[in-house]
Amino acid sequence: MVSTLENEVCSIGTTLETVLATPEGRRIMSCIQCGTCSGTCPYGEHMEFTPRRIINMLRRGYIDEVFKSDSMLRCVACYSCMAKCPRGIRLSDVLLPLVKEQTLINTPEMPAELQKGLQNTLRYGNPMGESSRKRAQWTATSPVKVPIMAEIQRPVDVLWFVECYTSYYARGQDNSRAVARLFKALDVDFAILGNEEKCAGDCGQLTWESGLFETLTDYNMEIFRKYRFNRIVTGDPHAYNAFRIRYPLYGFDYVVEHTTPFFARQIDRLKLKLKRPLNYTVTYHDACCLGRRAGHFEEPRQLLHAIPGIKLVEMTHNRVNAICCGGGGGGMWLDTYFKQKGMERLSERRVKEAIQTGADVLVVSCPYEISRFEDALKVVPHDKPILVRDVMELLAEALED
Ligand code: SF4
Repeated sequence: MVSTLENEVCSIGTTLETVLATPEGRRIMSCIQCGTCSGTCPYGEHMEFTPRRIINMLRRGYIDEVFKSDSMLRCVACYSCMAKCPRGIRLSDVLLPLVKEQTLINTPEMPAELQKGLQNTLRYGNPMGESSRKRAQWTATSPVKVPIMAEIQRPVDVLWFVECYTSYYARGQDNSRAVARLFKALDVDFAILGNEEKCAGDCGQLTWESGLFETLTDYNMEIFRKYRFNRIVTGDPHAYNAFRIRYPLYGFDYVVEHTTPFFARQIDRLKLKLKRPLNYTVTYHDACCLGRRAGHFEEPRQLLHAIPGIKLVEMTHNRVNAICCGGGGGGMWLDTYFKQKGMERLSERRVKEAIQTGADVLVVSCPYEISRFEDALKVVPHDKPILVRDVMELLAEALED
């Protein structure tokens, strides 16, 4: 739960003037202009105004110039600047999304892909524009029964918030089927919302689409209130981020866990079930919302070490220094825009590092990364095959039958 002060500053719809008037906002005044934020930003070299420069300009009153620049459209909300700022300035949570909102208001042409993704999310509850009535269709292909809250009509221990890519996207569904098998293997009492679930809205929030985010929050909160459960577990670090940081502003006070810490907590019981050796050399990519933002660096690695036969090798940039896949903060729908601007896709930069390790498998823990890295591997040359798999998929593969 975030503090009252943080709530005040994080509130959607807050103006820049309001932020600057709060104690947290005044922290911007403590910026020492060291440039760490700009140096660590993966797209800093492509920004007209880097985060350091934006702070300096805002402090000097050049607000219109900042808002008219499209620099912040290149922010993929990787939390690198925020994690490393020596003054603890909450750039990714507060300042940069506010600037991004103003950029989107002032920019004559919002990138079409981003606009479509946000419109789809508003209209259908998912960025792909799929029918909300098909959200639970994947459960028909699950090897174990997936209970749905509206059907079972009883309290459960775990409300599993599946999220969009893991409901609709074919490779994302592999993750969902794996999680269902793992829940069953550990006798977890779980259920999903099925077609009642809608996107948690993290990317809408990080592009500071306040109306969209509030619509989704109001909707999901109403659905949560219909049912009784002890905790929410989700495999999507973006949903985890939204529930942890933003939803408390709207009355959310449930325990929420990402699937990796959830299963890592039960590692002793899980190990007894992981009987099938997987003789892979793997490298692990830290998802920004799970690693840098929430500090869950070790749990995914503990789970990988629990699988017999797995050898883990690290990429040059790992844990707090991991290179973002480029999908956060609306980046999922900005690849064409980035290409037009001559920017290398961060997913391609990342898979090059993974290839250098010689690993057989690039392991991820976010549904965005499967599609981003599999796409990147289609264009980045590599001699030895390398697969992209979610931690959950590997755990399920190692389960005894
Ligand atoms: Fe200012 Fe922090 Fe950026 Fe340094 S890292 S320039 S202190 S915002």
